[in-house]
Order: sequence, then C-alpha cells, then structure tokens
Amino acid sequence: MQSVRAFVNELMLLEIKIPVVLAVESSDTSIDEQLIHFATESGALFLDGMGDGIWLMNDPSKIVNQKVSGRTYLETKNNYQFINNTSFSILQAVRTRISKTEYISCPSCGRTLFDLQETTARIRAVTNHLKGVKIAIMGCIVNGPGEMADADFGYVGSGPGKITLYKGKEVVKRNVDSAIAVEELINLLKESEAWIDN
Ligand code: SF4
Repeated sequence: MQSVRAFVNELMLLEIKIPVVLAVESSDTSIDEQLIHFATESGALFLDGMGDGIWLMNDPSKIVNQKVSGRTYLETKNNYQFINNTSFSILQAVRTRISKTEYISCPSCGRTLFDLQETTARIRAVTNHLKGVKIAIMGCIVNGPGEMADADFGYVGSGPGKITLYKGKEVVKRNVDSAIAVEELINLLKESEAWIDN
C-alpha cells in the first residue's frame, strides 16, 4: 500500500492524470482469507481516493474450500463469480460504485436476540435486488439503533421473538412477532416506495 501511495503521489506531483487500476493478487487458500486480503489491500487505497479501477487476481486451484462462499454471502458458482462479486462489493463499500442493496449488521454478542447470520441471509434473499437501499440488521435494541449508521431501514431485536422495525432513526413497527417480521419489513419497504418487484 505504501509503495502504491508513493507512486500515486508522484503522478499527482507530475500532474499526470491517467487512470490508475488497483491490481491485487491473492495466494491465500480460503475464500474468506482472499476476501479479506483483496478488501484491505485495495479498500484502503480507494478510501484515500487513489484508484480508478479494480483488478483482482487469484489462482482458483490453490483455494482449498472453494465451495464455501464465506463472508461474501453471495452465490459463488465459480471463481469468476467470486472475483466479480468481490470487486463490486469492495467498490460499494468504499462508495465508489453502488450496484446492490447495502446491509449493515452488528457483529452479534451475548445480547443478540436472534440468529443473526440466518436472519441476515433470509433478509438478503428477499431484498438483494433493491439497489442502493441500506438495511441494518441489529441484534438488540440496547445498542443496535445507535449503530445503524446511515441505514434507510432497520430490523432490530427488541425482545425474545420480537423485532422492532425502523425507517431511518424512527420506530415504525414495535415488537413485531419474529415469525412475520421479514414480511413486515417487506411491507414497510413497499409503504416507503423503496420496493420494486423482482
Ligand atoms: S447491537 Fe446489540 S447485539 Fe449487536 S453487537 Fe451491539 S450490543 Fe451486541
């Protein structure tokens, strides 16, 4: 990263305005490790404003758990799809190119009131076509609302088997039964004109 920063600084000093494509190669052996490698190497530079394009490279034959989608949560039928998904995810995370729904979720802890990973996957499955909409999925009402950042909608555990739904920072549906909470979230998205049929 340091050498790329120095290189881009040099281009700026020389007033050379050519686009810079950040190329990152990972030889890690799991999808998760590659994901972290790609994201840290290129993400920090993008956040510094030092990249105009992304080029991720790996050797798929070196990945030992290729079938595990890991933290991408996205379908990875093959290596091209993994590289493609990861590239767009990094560009979205650094707010360079918004191409899909944005999810913000807490890391979960002892206060978490539902299975965060399973619930996040369920919400993703029905909302992942809503490009640009930001949905927060938070484990508890104690700290969740304060950590939702700039989410447009929030799905927050508010008691055992209970979910409270937010629109921005405002509570709109309190203590909804968790069995119907995803359906209620969809209704809220529809009422808020943030929904489109898939
Ligand atoms: S939002 Fe609540 S459940 Fe999630 S990590 Fe923070 S304290 Fe834990």
